[in-house]
Amino acid sequence: MSVATEPQACPVEGCDAAINRPENLRRHVERVHGVKKDSAEWRRLFGLAPKNVARVSYTRDIEQQISDTAKPLRESLRLIERRLATIDEEKLQLQTDRRRLLGVLRLIDPTSFVAKPKKDGASQNGSPEMNDAKRQAVVEFIQKQGYEDGLTAAAVYRDMKAAGAEPISSAGKVLDIVRELHAQGVLRADRKMRGGAMQYKLVTNGGNDGT
Ligand SMILES: [Zn+2]
Repeated sequence: MSVATEPQACPVEGCDAAINRPENLRRHVERVHGVKKDSAEWRRLFGLAPKNVARVSYTRDIEQQISDTAKPLRESLRLIERRLATIDEEKLQLQTDRRRLLGVLRLIDPTSFVAKPKKDGASQNGSPEMNDAKRQAVVEFIQKQGYEDGLTAAAVYRDMKAAGAEPISSAGKVLDIVRELHAQGVLRADRKMRGGAMQYKLVTNGGNDGT
C-alpha cells in the first residue's frame, strides 16, 4: 500500500511543483490548474491517448473557423455603427449651427431676408433639407409619443411645441406631414373628431410590434 514513490514533477508548463503521490498530483493539476479530469488537456498533460481524436479536433476546427470568420465581420459592423453615430451627431450639430447662423443673420442683416418669399410661413418655401428635417422631427416625435389613443395634427403640433421639439414646423406643415404619413400608410385614419379634424393612429407593423 504505502509505496514510496519519487516526487513527480507537475506536467503543467511553468509549474515547479513536485508531488510525491500520483493521486496528489492529479488533485493538484485539477484544483491548482483548473484542468478538468479526463478532459483533452488532462489527457495531454498525463500523456494519455486522446479520446475521440477525430471528433475533438473536428469540433475545435469548426469553432475556430466560425470565430475566425465572425471576428472581422463583427469588427466591420462595429466600425459602421460607430460611423453612423458620428454622422448622426454631425448632422444634428450642422442643423443646430445652421439654425443659429440663420437666426443671427436675420438680426444683423435683415435686408438679405426681406426679398425672399418665405418671410411669412417660412416652412412653405423652406429648403428641401429643412423640409426633410422637419418631416423627420414630426415622424420621430409621433413614434416616440406612441399616441395609443390616437392623434390629430393639431395635438402633435401643440405637443411638439410644448416639448420644445426642433426643428418645429408650423401647424399647417404638421397637418401636411400627418396627411402624407397617412397616405404612406404609416398612420391610419381612426375617426373623425367633432369639428372635422381626423384622428389617426400609428399603424404598428406586426413583425416589429412588442419590441
Ligand atoms: Zn502544478
